[in-house]
Amino acid sequence: MKRFGALATILLLGATQVMAAAEAPRLVLQITIDGLRGDLLDRYADNFGKGGFNYLRNKGVVYTNAHYLHANTETIVGHTTLATGATPSVHGMIGNVWYHADSGELGYNIEDAEAPLLPTRKDSAEGAQVDPAQKRARSSGRSPRGILAPTFSDTLKIATAGKAKIFGISGKDRSAVAMAGKAGTAYWYSTNNGDFQSSAYYMEKYPNWVNVWNGQGKAERLADKKWQLLLDPARYKLGDQDDRPYEIDLKGYGRTFPHPFGPANHPLFFTRVLISPEGDHLLLDFAKTLIEAEQIGQDEVTDYLSISFSAVDAVNHFFGPSSLENEDVVLQLDRTLADLFQFIDKQVGLDKTLIVFSADHGMAEMPEYATELGYDAGRIYSDEVLAMAREASDAIFGSDKLVKDFFRPYLYLDGDAISAKGLDRQNVATAIADELAKKTGIGGAIPVSRILTGNPSGPAAAVRYNHHPQRAGDVYIFQQPYWFMFDRGPVAAMHGSPWGYDTHVPIIFVGSGIDPARVGRLVHPIDVAPTLSALLNISPPAAAQGTALVEVLN
Ligand SMILES: [Zn+2]
Repeated sequence: MKRFGALATILLLGATQVMAAAEAPRLVLQITIDGLRGDLLDRYADNFGKGGFNYLRNKGVVYTNAHYLHANTETIVGHTTLATGATPSVHGMIGNVWYHADSGELGYNIEDAEAPLLPTRKDSAEGAQVDPAQKRARSSGRSPRGILAPTFSDTLKIATAGKAKIFGISGKDRSAVAMAGKAGTAYWYSTNNGDFQSSAYYMEKYPNWVNVWNGQGKAERLADKKWQLLLDPARYKLGDQDDRPYEIDLKGYGRTFPHPFGPANHPLFFTRVLISPEGDHLLLDFAKTLIEAEQIGQDEVTDYLSISFSAVDAVNHFFGPSSLENEDVVLQLDRTLADLFQFIDKQVGLDKTLIVFSADHGMAEMPEYATELGYDAGRIYSDEVLAMAREASDAIFGSDKLVKDFFRPYLYLDGDAISAKGLDRQNVATAIADELAKKTGIGGAIPVSRILTGNPSGPAAAVRYNHHPQRAGDVYIFQQPYWFMFDRGPVAAMHGSPWGYDTHVPIIFVGSGIDPARVGRLVHPIDVAPTLSALLNISPPAAAQGTALVEVLN
């Protein structure tokens, strides 16, 4: 019992120290901007107002050289990394899509047949699905069950004995679900009907406030309206570059301003709304309603709200990151954030709110644009990679059946076909990888045997951080810098490579007791969750690999 007494004394001392430290925030607000590359805030800063990005930039510790460690810079991978402080090799979200061992089929990252979507207002409405990752989902159910590491939000729930209120909301399901973790509640926008929806993993039925919000039909009110520029074109850096032939015209949405949403019954109407500042406006409106209805930040227990804005990424994919559309959606997001911060100040108090801001990945320039600027780039499509792999397999082993599929970034081999020929799977992978690595546009093709050995650096190290043994394929394939490697379809620009424009994101912390600073040293998004934990005097998430950022803690 003597030992217990000593421990109690230490615990009491610890408690006194905690109480002497700054009062815990009432709210941790985690803001993630899908696809906001690390350079874009500085690029557009001249036209920012006072209360949005500049609130963060002037009051916070701003990291200007933050890079993801993993190679597959996609939405679920980045969000889960921010949430858990772990790399995909540990948290298991290695890509938007991978071969699921249960059925040997491609599947979507957060799909879960046992967690069906809860029906919203007009469940029968059928919007056209343009998200290529969503098309691979084998069921419409969604849950965080496939995430293999606890999130910061999960850890906060434990630290507060279950009392913290935890929510993740977004224009995209995977961005909401990853951040809410297993202990929180996620809501996301439906491109079928403009409602915010959730799944049976989280609740049996929607709380009344969600039904009321959906019942207002706020997205439909944009019918026959247009996305207009916020400012006079002369004020934009890219004001004279609205039209480029390689931007995507989404069946009448156009390549130049103004972009018409069309009638509410157009199959792409709710998708177009998401590919505009209006998608972020709707998310802001839903966030405000949630904060009031769920009484977020109203008592001493620290609550957690993650808001992941999706419009920048959507706009990037159709118009590229160096487009007038990109500049405008970022400027309009600046005003959206100013509105959010004003609302939080009134409801909770910004002095009682700890804000952490980042992005899930960056974005490559369109290869045609890079080529115009003198860079050597092009497009290589998934079916071409698969065909090259089968050709190599046929030439070396006398059969193209050894290659099962390619879904970027992984090539998958057919284990049965390889055994039937008496071959060794790793040898087959290595031989095909070595052939693929020689092809134009391919930056690297790394077989599992090489991912797991040696002391890799550069992209090879990033590939190892991405490698989860039960989920990864046989060969990791990535493109040369500025090359586009993805499926055919209406996609102008992509992210997903291990190169700097895709790994570079902003990280900013703002809160009571945090002194403003601009920090240029290399840091990583795995550091975000451990830093939040240190600020709150709680344990970091159980699988976190990052370190708490000293500039924030000082
Ligand atoms: Zn994303």
